Amino acid sequence: MFIDEVRISVKAGDGGNGCLAFRREKFVPKGGPSGGDGGRGGNIYMVASQHYNTLLHFRFNPEHKADRGRHGEGSNKKGRDAEHIELPVPVGTVVYDNETGDLIHDFTVPGEKFMVARGGRGGRGNQHFATPTHQAPTEHEPGRPGEAKTLRLELKLLADAGLVGFPNAGKSTLISRISAARPKIADYPFTTLEPNLGVVSHEDRTFVVADIPGLIEGAHEGHGLGIRFLKHIERTKLLVHLVDVSEGSGRDPVEDFKVVLNELKSFSEELPTKPMIVVATKMDSAQDPDRVKKLSAAAKRRKMPFFKISAVTGEGLPELLKAMAEQIFAAADTAAIADAEV
Ligand code: GDP
Ligand code: MG
Repeated sequence: MFIDEVRISVKAGDGGNGCLAFRREKFVPKGGPSGGDGGRGGNIYMVASQHYNTLLHFRFNPEHKADRGRHGEGSNKKGRDAEHIELPVPVGTVVYDNETGDLIHDFTVPGEKFMVARGGRGGRGNQHFATPTHQAPTEHEPGRPGEAKTLRLELKLLADAGLVGFPNAGKSTLISRISAARPKIADYPFTTLEPNLGVVSHEDRTFVVADIPGLIEGAHEGHGLGIRFLKHIERTKLLVHLVDVSEGSGRDPVEDFKVVLNELKSFSEELPTKPMIVVATKMDSAQDPDRVKKLSAAAKRRKMPFFKISAVTGEGLPELLKAMAEQIFAAADTAAIADAEV
């Protein structure tokens, strides 16, 4: 299971206090009670947003408090209500009460809004406590406390981009460079049972990259574990095809590239229709520019964007990430527009 999980605390605003006051007018020696009510504390809502793919933004920011309502004032003046707070969460987030384990809400639809902590009601001012026999009441209430909770947020991660390529192409190394994931490097191709998932922050958004090992000839026939990984990449919006262009690989980059393309094709008809970015890896130790050029030409013939990187020196990584984010969020933004039009 690939689950992104965070615990956050939320505290809705307390209500403002009700006021104790009496009217003072020039010719009215004993004015009636005039203490206004306190304002309502701010509620805290969560809203499902397509602009978030992970819960990473809560890791840096795990405490959320709404303001309290303003206190009531004399002359029956009610205190102002506090603003509500809205916290964006990715679609697919499930919210639990951390103490009881109870399910609070499951966000399935973009734009869905749910209150997770209710603000306190404002206290009543003494104006409300007058009766025919009790004309100068001094009773007034304090504001009610806003709800405070610790929430556990869970999100099943689905990869936005899948890294494909031969064993040793540099997939694990790349994912460790661009995310906090720490997959085993130079692993045996079939020892990893689950693909590694990394959460990548790019500018103000995040996306999920899966490092899919074990893709070799025959994987679609169920050899090794390749078939399980291929199932994962079927859901991604983008494939990033890593090809080792270093001389040390002892292989022909264009051949490797074609073998993997065929592998994807034989697994499903849908996979080859996904947008693909081609990446020449290990540029720090690529001594033959001709190998790189040939791979670049093979990518261009198929109208696929082409990038050159080194996960060791970091060369080309910002450009690659930018291109990946553009592809991934172009798809999400289109979906968001479609939702808005429904
Ligand atoms: P994977 O099988 O595709 O996940 O490949 P790995 O990330 O495990 O890398 C295979 C080998 O290539 C490891 O020994 C890495 O250290 C090495 N490697 C990965 N990226 C680079 C790179 O940019 N430059 C160099 N020189 N070596 C790299
Ligand atoms: Mg690997």
